[in-house]
Amino acid sequence: MFTLQRNISLASLSTFHIGGKANYFTKVTGALELASAIEYGEQNNLPIFIFSGGSNVLFSDRGFPGLVIRIEDGGIKIDKQKIFCGAGVTLLDVVHTSCENNLAGMEKMAGIPGSLGGAIRGNAGAFGTEIGSVVHSVKAYARDTGMLKEYSQKMCEFGYRTSIFKKHPNLIIISAELILEPGEKSILQKIASDTMVLRESKHSQKAMCAGSFFMNPLVKDEKLLAEFVKDTGNVSKDGKLPAGWLIDYVGLRGKQIGGAMVSKQHPNYLVNTGTATAEDVVMLASLIKTRVRDELGIRLREEVQYVGLDQ
Ligand SMILES: Cc1cc2nc3c(=O)[nH]c(=O)nc-3n(C[C@H](O)[C@H](O)[C@H](O)COP(=O)(O)OP(=O)(O)OC[C@H]3O[C@@H](n4cnc5c(N)ncnc54)[C@H](O)[C@@H]3O)c2cc1C
Repeated sequence: MFTLQRNISLASLSTFHIGGKANYFTKVTGALELASAIEYGEQNNLPIFIFSGGSNVLFSDRGFPGLVIRIEDGGIKIDKQKIFCGAGVTLLDVVHTSCENNLAGMEKMAGIPGSLGGAIRGNAGAFGTEIGSVVHSVKAYARDTGMLKEYSQKMCEFGYRTSIFKKHPNLIIISAELILEPGEKSILQKIASDTMVLRESKHSQKAMCAGSFFMNPLVKDEKLLAEFVKDTGNVSKDGKLPAGWLIDYVGLRGKQIGGAMVSKQHPNYLVNTGTATAEDVVMLASLIKTRVRDELGIRLREEVQYVGLDQ
């Protein structure tokens, strides 16, 4: 059974450290607890929001006027090249467990904050790898039917920072089976720790933020694509340009509204300098979107999920 709590600060559960209180809050592990928490919320006509690691959400300053459900843990089991994990296990635990067991494929995801479920929902990735590529199957609970269903990798419809679970928010990931390649523990652990050092050199990973705020957009403007190559020495990936480069291009690196700031080091990180409200972040994001649209004709879309905020 789940334990219900009242007036819980959402700021402390999000890497942005922003947000008011949840009227009702509970932690769950597994499908049964999740189903009974959802049933409680529905019977009491409460709006429901379900999340896990809190590293890709921006909670409203007013909090959430309903029931917030946090998925936690769920365990990790290994069978030869397969790893079975609960959705609330942290991605870092999955990375460490895979490396420890001589299994390759997760090591470059070391340091991506949050849970396995959150990672699968947004097909999280870094340095050329994405979680979707190692997923064999996912078990998800459908809020509308109350049924558990297994999704093969193909059924998950993984794409750039997306999956069927992002397209259909009524599907809640309960667990997943990953298939990895044989590898050598010491090499994999070295790659994982080097990756964490590299991430830290690109931006402090302890900053109060949600990582990259916007997704990298597809850009057709040949002149702009050529300018990117000239400026950075890199070629665009799949016709996309880094949102951070575009934000810098329109002169918003370091721009601050209230306590929210475009990071000087990585302009796609919008950081809470200590006093930011959700409203500050939304106003800053909105200024960025307007400038990039008006000056470059490109529409930026948020990777971060707004909760309880008007969009
Ligand atoms: C410093 C920093 C660096 C980051 N670097 C990267 C990076 O390199 N690559 C990258 O891809 N991301 C990165 N991120 C973003 C974030 O870590 C990922 O998006 C992460 O996968 C989110 O997982 P979470 O558990 O924290 O999700 P949450 O923030 O808890 O939730 C995000 C969304 O997922 C949904 N969700 C959560 N759990 C489930 C579930 N079990 N079933 C269905 N929906 C669910 C929530 O409803 C919400 O809509 C970074 C974030 C930070 C703070």
